[in-house]
Amino acid sequence: MIESFKVVLVGDSNVGKTSIIQRYTKDSFDSGIEPTVGAHFMTRIIDLEEHGGSGRMKLQIWDTAGQEKYKSVTQIYYRDAAAAICVYDVTSQLSLDAAERWLDDLRRFSPPHTIIALAANKCDLFSQQEVSLEMGQDFKDKHEVPILQQTSAKENTGIEELFVRVAREIDRNR
Ligand code: GDP
Ligand code: MG
Repeated sequence: MIESFKVVLVGDSNVGKTSIIQRYTKDSFDSGIEPTVGAHFMTRIIDLEEHGGSGRMKLQIWDTAGQEKYKSVTQIYYRDAAAAICVYDVTSQLSLDAAERWLDDLRRFSPPHTIIALAANKCDLFSQQEVSLEMGQDFKDKHEVPILQQTSAKENTGIEELFVRVAREIDRNR
């Protein structure tokens, strides 16, 4: 049986969480709803052999149902998460400021060994950029986050890489 791992996405409204998940999972698979958490998930199987690892794993990728408007999500959203992706929008300094609070929540409410990654989304909107790559890297270093991936859900850049990097860390951890 293929092992399944929960991956949660957090970050302010409008940074592109749902778009990232849709982009990564739309060609494939079922989705489920967890009514008590007010969130839903999509799944995709990833073959690590194609990426220098071994075996396959199923990623169960969780999206909020808009509760992040209230600047936090219910604690049970984080329950049993193997990994968490904190998304910010490179056209919004405010979304990076908010990422700091999301990381605090993650560290408080997710299991102790949850892999944490940052996604710098909307990297296609180069002319509107408020958060440079360097600012992102400084933020990553300051908060000791192991993964920072530039993404564009719109142009499908960095999305596969993001989930591959997360899956490889999960694999290393299991
Ligand atoms: P969420 O609230 O974090 O789930 O964000 P959504 O996925 O709903 O996206 C918010 C808005 O940003 C939508 O209008 C998306 O089309 C847009 N968006 C999401 N990702 C990107 C991206 O990579 N580039 C651009 N240009 N727009 C994006
Ligand atoms: Mg959404």
